[in-house]
Amino acid sequence: MNYRLRKKDTVILMSRRADAPYADRVEEDGRVLIYEGHDNPRPPLGRKPKEVDQERVNPDGSLTQNGLFFGAAVDHKNGLRNPEIVKVYEKVKPNIWVYNGRFSLLDAWLEDSNSRKVYKFRLRLTGDEGLRPDYASYIDQSRIIPSAVKLEVWKRDGGKCIICGATDNLHFDHIIPYSKGGTSLESSNIQLLCVRHNLEKRDRIE
Ligand SMILES: [Zn+2]
Repeated sequence: MNYRLRKKDTVILMSRRADAPYADRVEEDGRVLIYEGHDNPRPPLGRKPKEVDQERVNPDGSLTQNGLFFGAAVDHKNGLRNPEIVKVYEKVKPNIWVYNGRFSLLDAWLEDSNSRKVYKFRLRLTGDEGLRPDYASYIDQSRIIPSAVKLEVWKRDGGKCIICGATDNLHFDHIIPYSKGGTSLESSNIQLLCVRHNLEKRDRIE
């Protein structure tokens, strides 16, 4: 979790892999993300991070990432500010992260989990209203594709753009767009494209 790190965008990295350290999950066909807060990296002596409550405040009194996200969500809920916009990346394989889009941070709470308290954050995929038509806002048209489908597509397409063979800045593209009824749940409707070919395709469709 990076809340406006060095005045940049707020970013979270999620994972729904079996070996993921945190219990992130999606709801409402990928439009809602329930993201788990992060553990205290320096628990009291003799305790492990997973054995102690997640912290909102550091020992020096500054807010942890949990605290920063929690404060933004609560302020929004209380009508004090617009929701924080969070870029969400998802780990689908070791060293392979895909962009899931821009989400609004709407809610936060503490939850009991294995006899300790963990933070949970509720985020919703943003629409395009008011966003510049840069490539970030184009790409967030795609709804979250289940990891299993992404892996299948990644393997089938050989980890490269199916048009030019590029191996970086790849995106999982809906062959029939989500907005036109295309599914996120079948690998037959998903293909790997680089940013350039993803944008060119969108230009043709719209
Ligand atoms: Zn390409």
